[in-house]
Amino acid sequence: MDFEKFVFKVEYPNHCIYCEGLDLSIENPKHHPSYEITTKCNLNCIYCYSRVALLNETAPKPGYYGDLNPKAVTVSQYGEPLLAGVERVAEIIEALRERFGDIRVDLQTNGTIDFTELDGLIDIAMISLDVSNAESYKKITGSDRFYEVIENVEKALDMDCIVTVRSVHLPGINDEELVELAERLGEIGVDEHFIQPCSIYEECLGDLRRMGFDVERAESLYEYLRVVYECGEFVKAVIPGCIKVVLNEVLKQLDDIGDLKFVRRNALARNPPQIRRNRRFEI
Ligand code: SF4
Repeated sequence: MDFEKFVFKVEYPNHCIYCEGLDLSIENPKHHPSYEITTKCNLNCIYCYSRVALLNETAPKPGYYGDLNPKAVTVSQYGEPLLAGVERVAEIIEALRERFGDIRVDLQTNGTIDFTELDGLIDIAMISLDVSNAESYKKITGSDRFYEVIENVEKALDMDCIVTVRSVHLPGINDEELVELAERLGEIGVDEHFIQPCSIYEECLGDLRRMGFDVERAESLYEYLRVVYECGEFVKAVIPGCIKVVLNEVLKQLDDIGDLKFVRRNALARNPPQIRRNRRFEI
């Protein structure tokens, strides 16, 4: 498929289904409801909003944030939920299902901890991984756990859930590595490679720049989509639903796909990261 066709056809991941971000008529769409377990993490990723939220004291307390009739709940948006112990996470998911009935449960994890005990309890395993080798992994996360993550992605493929690997595109840092990673993910058979454009907080910019991060390219929708396109040769590469719906609108206004090069996005996040949903209860 050529680039132009890909840009029109690229899909969003299963995780985005039911998100307000898909509805352009909603002025300030909120992210999915989530159950927050801990703000702690065993990694220290250079771009992480959770780390920035801790610094700004805007990180959420444990508990459920959202409507009382959700269709999908993410566990969790902040920190690494599995640090609380897989049994504790299972207990929380079971309680959420008991309370809300037939919901979709998306586990968001850095993949460093085996979660196969959650088989049958989660619908989507979203595992974060931004690079294709242990050396780069150490630079980005401060940790030596690259091979554990790969192993846990492979184990997740035997579970009864959709396996999505989630990567952040960091132009100047991981352009080629994302494509190498996509090749590996395609070989092992992950369901989706969810590639997000970066949203960078001021607190992270210095470290990122030292690693070669290119702010100008980070603001180019074209540069981002080129990388997703290259990954799409090997694996089902998908983009955030909230970007897909905006992209559809942009494409309606362009005479030539080459004009995408002139479309800029704001890569620098302005507000401190925080959950915009009400905290309802704690399990
Ligand atoms: S990426 Fe966008 S559309 Fe998808 S779940 Fe997040 S906010 Fe919603």
